[in-house]
Amino acid sequence: MTGTLLAHALLDKGKTIQIFDNNHKGSSSAIAAGIINPVTGRRVVKSWLIDELIPFAKKTYQDLEVKLNEQIFYERNVVRVLFSVKDENHWLEKTGDETVAKYVKENDDLGSFKGKITEGVGLGELESSAQVDMPLILEKSKSYFLNKKIINTEVFDYESVRFENDLVFYQNYKAKKIIFCEGQQGQKNPWFGKLPFEVAKGEVLLVKIPNANFDKILKHKLFIVPLKDDIYWIGSTYDWDNKDDLPTEEKKALLIKKLDEILTIPYEVIDHRAAIRPTIYDRRPLVGFHPVNTLLGIVNGMGTKGASLAPYFVDEFVKLLLENKSVNQEADISRFDLTV
Ligand SMILES: Cc1cc2nc3c(=O)[nH]c(=O)nc-3n(C[C@H](O)[C@H](O)[C@H](O)COP(=O)(O)OP(=O)(O)OC[C@H]3O[C@@H](n4cnc5c(N)ncnc54)[C@H](O)[C@@H]3O)c2cc1C
Repeated sequence: MTGTLLAHALLDKGKTIQIFDNNHKGSSSAIAAGIINPVTGRRVVKSWLIDELIPFAKKTYQDLEVKLNEQIFYERNVVRVLFSVKDENHWLEKTGDETVAKYVKENDDLGSFKGKITEGVGLGELESSAQVDMPLILEKSKSYFLNKKIINTEVFDYESVRFENDLVFYQNYKAKKIIFCEGQQGQKNPWFGKLPFEVAKGEVLLVKIPNANFDKILKHKLFIVPLKDDIYWIGSTYDWDNKDDLPTEEKKALLIKKLDEILTIPYEVIDHRAAIRPTIYDRRPLVGFHPVNTLLGIVNGMGTKGASLAPYFVDEFVKLLLENKSVNQEADISRFDLTV
């Protein structure tokens, strides 16, 4: 999705582009829930830069909705089940902590979840959270780009790239820059592959829960995220060792076991998918140009938070490219030495 957002942003600036994207089936964006979560973890910690990221993401997706004529951004609270008195007290404490109070709210009403899930000791609710339909953005944008004849769906072949007189040549194309937004496959990139990727495989289930009518996102032992027509996204797992993007029976069984512990109403598994999150060892994005070959740029490393990070850091990259504005230091690839 990073490359898709970059393509839209550059087109909006009147730039001529050519996209190469083979829509790899294990691409992270194709299976993500697209949750934008302002605070995370048991300690209820505010996500990095989130006060800036959420309004920026909302504006980007709402503009894209107009362009693609589809709803892709949903403001949706997260109902969080708390499993101990300690967690409940901690949550209540956070409702009075001015750094996160605008996101964290007290809640004692299960709403549409009542009678359909197992309850914990207490409940909390998150505001300003949202859900972005990443697969729909990919699908609709692909049609948009195909219509404009600016997308090539073959695998990009690094070996065919040539550089001459400050220009890049590839097949019949001649360009001023190549920008790589390859997700975890960026590890194979001959110019940027040495960046410290620490990728995390994730597996999810899509299930049908007839007549559940869940209207919010549930954070229980797993996330339950409403999609359409009684279908829910259930996830996810984290595996830092397994580097392939194939679904496994082991993780499927684990997801089903946890889901059985959550739901008290019947459901049916309709799909099981896996992908690799493009996580970087310091958990920050990768934005910038190659220090030696400045014709090559990168926007990657969205890790577990592409829905909130990608709009903002695509914009940072566009400002670097077109206005030579510097990038947030924590995301700038110059924090790593690519010359060794
Ligand atoms: C299980 C799971 C759940 C997630 N849930 C969330 C969530 O709720 N919220 C959130 O914000 N994030 C979530 N994420 C993370 C999110 O998916 C990523 O941060 C984001 O999608 C990364 O997008 P990307 O475009 O950078 O990479 P990708 O989605 O991997 O896209 C890379 C693209 O580059 C193409 N490509 C790569 N190399 C080549 C080549 N040589 N030739 C042609 N094309 C190429 C691929 O085909 C692909 O289309 C989740 C991830 C997983 C795995």
